[in-house]
Amino acid sequence: MPAFSKTRIAPTPSGFLHLGNAFSFILTAAMARLHGASILLRVDDLDKERCRQAYLDDLFDTLLFLDIPWDEGPRSPKDVYDRFSQHLRLDQYETVLSQLHQAGFLFPCACSRSDLANAGLNSGCTGKCLEKTAQAAAWKIADSPETIEILSYPSRFSTYPFPTAMKHLVVKKKDGFPSYHLASVVDDVFFGVDLIVRGADLWESSLAQLHLSSLLPTTRAFAHATFLHHPLLTEDGQKLSKSAGHNPIRQLRQTALHRKEIYQQASRFFGLEAEATNLREFTDLLDPTRFASL
Ligand SMILES: [Zn+2]
Repeated sequence: MPAFSKTRIAPTPSGFLHLGNAFSFILTAAMARLHGASILLRVDDLDKERCRQAYLDDLFDTLLFLDIPWDEGPRSPKDVYDRFSQHLRLDQYETVLSQLHQAGFLFPCACSRSDLANAGLNSGCTGKCLEKTAQAAAWKIADSPETIEILSYPSRFSTYPFPTAMKHLVVKKKDGFPSYHLASVVDDVFFGVDLIVRGADLWESSLAQLHLSSLLPTTRAFAHATFLHHPLLTEDGQKLSKSAGHNPIRQLRQTALHRKEIYQQASRFFGLEAEATNLREFTDLLDPTRFASL
């Protein structure tokens, strides 16, 4: 079994956490224990509009409720603001953005989503946007590869076609802030994360982030991270998302659902042979090889 040094729990506090988030946290924590990795709690709080105090409180309450430990990162909502906010690392993101810019990897683009949709593009740039010079522009990656290599859990390099939707990835948004992808890559490299456990909905994001990281020597270490994309909770065939608002953990806590019931549900969801009632049991029962092909 390979050893890893660090994984991360990296929620974006833009809504109340749901059961799918809890399952992902549990799996991440169990994988860390199995592989001797430490856990970084990383709060993606760049988007000030969407990141609210109540959501931050919910995050810490949920981790406490699930009895999920972490070794590094903020200990409380206040600690996020004081020491760990991504807003405190804007200089780092700016450094990488200017390196990308100076190396000629970026181009400005002011196309809106509707511009791209009208042009029949799900990504890219119509080229017309730059005629409207008064508009604020996002900065995007100019070129993308035909294929991209990813190191999948436990230790398998595979090559996949580069996803069309991820061409011309935004690295700096129109509002001047770094994009989620840029910040995520820079943070994972900075903190030394080498095991990334995330939902299968982020598969294309992982490929895009690998390409982004490959452009600069300072971020290239990201390519050595191992990825485990786990299945997502679905209900009636639909992805269980925050926006859908299903089963917020907050409600489950308030309706006196016990921690063990969440672990039992997570056990069934991830196909464990028996139902765990806490993190230790979940870790003992988890057979990580079942994720080897994902
Ligand atoms: Zn454009």
